Amino acid sequence: MKILLATGNRKKAVEITAIFAEGEGPKVEFLSLADFPDLPEAVEDGDTFLENARKKAHPAAKATGLPTLGEDSGLEVDALGGAPGIYSARYAGESAADGDNTRKLLEDMKDVPAGKRSARYRCVAVLAFPDGGEITADGSCEGEIAFEPRGTGGFGYDPIFLLPDGRMMAELSPREKDALSHRGRALRKMQISLESFDLSSRGKRGI
Ligand code: IMP
Repeated sequence: MKILLATGNRKKAVEITAIFAEGEGPKVEFLSLADFPDLPEAVEDGDTFLENARKKAHPAAKATGLPTLGEDSGLEVDALGGAPGIYSARYAGESAADGDNTRKLLEDMKDVPAGKRSARYRCVAVLAFPDGGEITADGSCEGEIAFEPRGTGGFGYDPIFLLPDGRMMAELSPREKDALSHRGRALRKMQISLESFDLSSRGKRGI
């Protein structure tokens, strides 16, 4: 089946495509936003990952007539009351690069001792259908915020996201990351749900 992938984040798109290619379920051919240059950019002004994922997926599904996958994700740090959360991409400012966000987070966490640096990545994915129906799925991945960056893989906060096995997320191969990441967990659930989803009914269904 053809699905429009509603993300402008190239690294996310690579991960999502690989997760679907590896997983069980119907084979998917992804189209990208570049195939629809006239689509207006999604306004991510929701209060939750789910609301923002819906804002990425539903208008694009309606406009293109294609099932559309929107994904919103971020990092929740317990010592910061769950920040940066839905603001993860722009933690250090509207046009912040990954390095700016990572540096700001390390600075904000500099007085937080080891043992109190727990955090998790969260991902909410919405597959929207042109008639307004949807499938939703979420996933999370627990870890802690390191004191210094390490590793060159992944993107975003991966160089400072320490996994329980002592490796940084940025030290995993792409396959290893997909196997345990928030995104991998959410999208494998979605794929399984898609397999049993009655596309002709296209009702609302969350998992
Ligand atoms: P979104 O594109 O609005 O969903 O923002 C996602 C932001 O959350 C990214 O820009 C990163 O800062 C962070 N993030 C989400 N997933 C990951 C990941 O797998 N690794 C590192 N950072 C991530």
